[in-house]
Amino acid sequence: MLVIGPHLSTAKGYAKAVDDAEKMGANAFQFFSRNPRGSNYRAYDKKDIEKFQRLREAYAFGPLQAHAPYTMNLASSNPTVYEFSSGVIKEDIKRMDALEIEYFVLHPGSHTGSGEASGIKQIAAALNQAIQGDEKITVLLETMPGKGTEIGFNFSQLKEVIDLTEHKEKLGICMDLCHVFSAGYDIKNCFEQVLAELDSRIGLLHLKTIHLNDSKYPLGSGKDRHLPLGQGEIGIDAIMKIITHPDISGLPFYVETPLDHSGHKKELDDIKTLLEFEKPVAADE
Ligand SMILES: [Zn+2]
Ligand SMILES: [Zn+2]
Repeated sequence: MLVIGPHLSTAKGYAKAVDDAEKMGANAFQFFSRNPRGSNYRAYDKKDIEKFQRLREAYAFGPLQAHAPYTMNLASSNPTVYEFSSGVIKEDIKRMDALEIEYFVLHPGSHTGSGEASGIKQIAAALNQAIQGDEKITVLLETMPGKGTEIGFNFSQLKEVIDLTEHKEKLGICMDLCHVFSAGYDIKNCFEQVLAELDSRIGLLHLKTIHLNDSKYPLGSGKDRHLPLGQGEIGIDAIMKIITHPDISGLPFYVETPLDHSGHKKELDDIKTLLEFEKPVAADE
């Protein structure tokens, strides 16, 4: 069964986010683990959390994904930024694990001039102090477009980070379609080859979730601008091939497109309609 849902706000509570997702026809969603552009987060409301857990079970939701804030940079050569960022991920992995969230995704970071190797080492060190090994949550490194000094725009870099961590079994990859396309992986015409490369560099088993985004900019642009599915350079045909690819069709798909609630509902409805079309018809019908 397709597990799919948008990125939603939890500003009005976690239970409301589950309800919002369900009303859109989603059976999963992503949210920020704290204010994406600040550093604060709200203390849990016990009743809200109880309702949240009850509802996600009642609606038979698939895995949920928490996204780390954008303000952190684990690869920064500035010690203050590094200390802040590694503190945030340690705290948020713990908080999200306590909420029984399945995945915590983060942008690996930008080395800001200190070089790729030192950035990669720092990211792994931050993960090592943050992950104890007894968590249920899986921590995912997101594939990046490669803006500026960003790390994670090719599969080898992500593999290098994972190789330096102590609890490799707690780590995985979230493939962002807009980002890999911007980074130069031709998922539009050669998705099979991109998957094969991911498999040979990192191992397909490490691919845990997908960010379903179309891209405003062409292949290899290095730019990061998401568009609604089918309205960008990747296009709906390629996106449907990806969603239905047998190697990944069981993974959760989180949609990060610039749409409001009704826009997301329509986007999900359209995907489901297209899926119906692609269903093979039995020979005797
Ligand atoms: Zn992201
Ligand atoms: Zn992006």
